[in-house]
Amino acid sequence: MLSDIQEVLYDEGKLQAKVKELGEQLSRDFEGRNPLVICVLKGAFIFMSDLVKTMTIPLEIDFMAVSSYGQSTKSSGVVKIIKDLDTSVEGRDVLIVEDIIDSGLTLSYLIDVLERRNAKSVTVATLFDKPARRTVDLQADYTGFTLPDEFVVGYGLDFAEKYRNLPFIGILKPEVYEK
Ligand code: 5GP
Ligand code: MG
Ligand code: MG
Repeated sequence: MLSDIQEVLYDEGKLQAKVKELGEQLSRDFEGRNPLVICVLKGAFIFMSDLVKTMTIPLEIDFMAVSSYGQSTKSSGVVKIIKDLDTSVEGRDVLIVEDIIDSGLTLSYLIDVLERRNAKSVTVATLFDKPARRTVDLQADYTGFTLPDEFVVGYGLDFAEKYRNLPFIGILKPEVYEK
């Protein structure tokens, strides 16, 4: 598995430090608002779990699973809800926790869904951002790291469902997905 990684971009220590910084900032900004924190499965599951442990305010947690079709290393923009929330977002301050924003299509779809359900506010925290590949005009409110235009895996992010358990984020060797 490690031999499939071309380069480690951020190791466990660097990721933890950034997540803590984001969690402290979010705790300040969401103080007294009891946010509904939404983990976008599956990619955000490790970030989400580390993030909420650094948050010191009352909050609630829910999960949503979406899938976008098309080539396996690209989003097609056709987003499907695989698992919906259990909680109503009506009148709630919602915090979407995402692993990575690439084209932005998945997120713009999600924001639209939550706004149509009458969330009071929709805020986005993403651990990673690849702004070079954006096809819709969209920016996260909180971003951990800006990444180059490379396909990355680890810390929750997969290729073909593998590599999610790597404790770091790294660039996958192109020959792995070009096979
Ligand atoms: P978007 O809709 O913004 O193009 O892509 C969103 C989703 O595609 C992300 O939440 C993530 O699941 C997946 N994705 C985008 N870029 C990468 C990447 O570099 N590595 C991995 N593993 N998944 C990615
Ligand atoms: Mg995602
Ligand atoms: Mg994936």
